[in-house]
Amino acid sequence: MMEFNILTLCYLVGSITFILGLKMLSNPATARKGNLIAAGGMTIAIIGTIFLYKDGTGAKLHNYVWIFGGIFIGGVIGTLAAKKVKMTAMPEMVSMFNGMGGACAALISIVEFKHLGMEVVPGTGNAYMPEGSESTLLIILLGLIIGSVSFAGSMIAWGKLNGKVKDFSFKGQHIFNIGLLLGILALAVYLFTSITASNAFLIYVLFAMALMYGVFFVFPIGGADMPVVISLLNSFTGVAAACGGFLYDNKVMLTGGILVGAAGTLLTILMCKAMNRSLSNVLIGSFGASAKGGASAGMHGSYKEISLSDTAVLMSYAHKVFIVPGYGLAVAQAQHVCHELEKILESKGVELKYAIHPVAGRMPGHMNVLLAEADVPYEKLLEMEHANDEFGSTDVVLVLGANDVVNPAAKSDPASPIYGMPILDVELAKHVIVNKRSMKPGYAGIENQLFFQPKTSMLFGDAKKVLQDLVAEIKNL
Ligand code: NDP
Repeated sequence: MMEFNILTLCYLVGSITFILGLKMLSNPATARKGNLIAAGGMTIAIIGTIFLYKDGTGAKLHNYVWIFGGIFIGGVIGTLAAKKVKMTAMPEMVSMFNGMGGACAALISIVEFKHLGMEVVPGTGNAYMPEGSESTLLIILLGLIIGSVSFAGSMIAWGKLNGKVKDFSFKGQHIFNIGLLLGILALAVYLFTSITASNAFLIYVLFAMALMYGVFFVFPIGGADMPVVISLLNSFTGVAAACGGFLYDNKVMLTGGILVGAAGTLLTILMCKAMNRSLSNVLIGSFGASAKGGASAGMHGSYKEISLSDTAVLMSYAHKVFIVPGYGLAVAQAQHVCHELEKILESKGVELKYAIHPVAGRMPGHMNVLLAEADVPYEKLLEMEHANDEFGSTDVVLVLGANDVVNPAAKSDPASPIYGMPILDVELAKHVIVNKRSMKPGYAGIENQLFFQPKTSMLFGDAKKVLQDLVAEIKNL
């Protein structure tokens, strides 16, 4: 009894620290600490489960070699992967880890399905599910379907983000997907209402169908919509883990799963809002897949270049400057020198701010994390709506490795695949300087008319090198 109370306390600590950690993650200044606090709480809950948990018969866990062997192997792989991963490859890793969570939930369902056991009806040879197991079976089926979809979908998302898997769709795929989903639901209902020993193997058919659905569900969703899909799959994994919590009557697993499910759902809604699109449009629209063929593709014109020294003069004598960071800044790892530029311009009396687009970079909050790493004060980061209000009174906007998030086609070209996505209205400023390495398109694969506008000048080169040279040039003025 005493152990049980201590275990409950461990779960309570795990749940509270998880909620606290989640709250702290919403601010870059506290995010690192929040992550550690949540991880610490989870460690307490796991250790408590391993040493204090007792089943209905009072038996404790005993197969410690397997448990600690698994923890050791998983821990080593996870630590190495997290240490090695580049900031720009973070969404891939999130997707992979999320997939592992989904796989765990699906496997738990399969194992617990076997534990359900079948009662043989005397004289008939038929075996049926024991009385009172309906709710357990329902949770098992739900966990299996959701976990499998999340696992398979996350693996495809992982492959797509690192370029190993290409977008793939065929005519009528949406109809096929809906048919597959209906088939899964029908089979689940059949199993729930009519399971016997002779048709119990159908659980594996359900497993295979759910995996297949996960693959076909994510395959056609292209490029720029991946963050939304990953966040949606994340919420699926949360719900699947919560099913595991129900099965084991484990409060911390339940709380954790529900929180991940809710947070993932909220993030999905927020990202859809940021792109001004509905979730169904994201899932059915095959946004990125058609991106390369958008009306803006192949658009040409003449653009002008600006020299480093002209850029240095323009920025040094400006009253107000905005920096628009994008994916290229993260690739170049130029955040520290960017902060240096900010400080040197401020020492010359220039007012400097950063305009942050919600989907700039390759993961939600990517630019916030990147700039926080270089100790850029958080209050200098303006969200899109506020930055858009201020561009009209801005002398120079320096676009650093951003492209799609400043593409005016989102407002003016109904045929463009990014049409409707809110963007940073940088062209409202007096001068726009765009730093990138070439005229190549960004993630959505479409050209950017901003680069050809009269007030825009191109400053070609790797962001880090260009910023280092720019800082040196300004120092010499
Ligand atoms: P983009 O991918 O649109 O553009 C980045 C630009 O950076 C490229 O055009 C590239 O041009 C330039 N670049 C690359 N490397 C360097 C370098 N070393 N130095 C200077 N420039 C460089 O990025 P944005 O941030 O504008 O937009 C993000 C896009 O990614 C959106 O379409 C968004 O939907 C999508 N996305 C967002 C996610 C998120 O959650 N934030 C996740 C996944 C996708 P060049 O090659 O010529 O240098």
